[in-house]
Amino acid sequence: SFITLEGGEGVGKSTQARALAEALRALGLEVVTTREPGGSEGAEMIRALLLGGPEERWTAEAEALLFAAARADHVAKTIRPALERGAWVLCDRFLDSSLAYQGGAGGLGTDRVRAINLFGLGGTLPDRTLVLALSDGAERARARDNDAPDRIGGRPADYHDAVAAAFRGLAGEEPERIRCIDAHGAPEAVTERLMTALADLLPA
Ligand code: C5P
Repeated sequence: SFITLEGGEGVGKSTQARALAEALRALGLEVVTTREPGGSEGAEMIRALLLGGPEERWTAEAEALLFAAARADHVAKTIRPALERGAWVLCDRFLDSSLAYQGGAGGLGTDRVRAINLFGLGGTLPDRTLVLALSDGAERARARDNDAPDRIGGRPADYHDAVAAAFRGLAGEEPERIRCIDAHGAPEAVTERLMTALADLLPA
């Protein structure tokens, strides 16, 4: 199965990605973990173009196309080959990040951003997408604490609110695929919630 992990900054996404991979491996599954932007040689080169530069380096449209190009390479070189040999793929950020960041918060519109991405995906879409979510105030504070040089950084609070709202909207449109998971509480408890949201995909 192809699982993606999504959410705003500071929701504990990378910690949960590691813990969830361990929990799945404990069931005897082969799990390939990867993350965006990046995950293949070409996509890592694009990552370096996207992160850490000045905010005004790219137009919003060019940035969205670079994310889509990185994703196309990542899917073709890393994700699809793993799925084809029967592994599980757990990807930290994917299509829905572009829909929320470039489409929703960035103002390009989710439909247009979805269109340029689908072109590159060759039909490979997540079986389940887990969106880690905190209450608005907590998410904003953690995003602020997280602003670091490797971020597309220094974004205003209402940007982070818009990202969170966009993820909620996407989950409302596709409730079967996209599940919002409460990210409050002990990391172990959050991992259990993630596993529960995958229960129907797990081997019996
Ligand atoms: O939080 P994480 O390390 O996964 O994200 C890296 C950075 O890339 C974050 O600043 C996030 O806002 C940004 N990003 C983005 N659009 C995407 C994916 C990530 O702006 N499609």
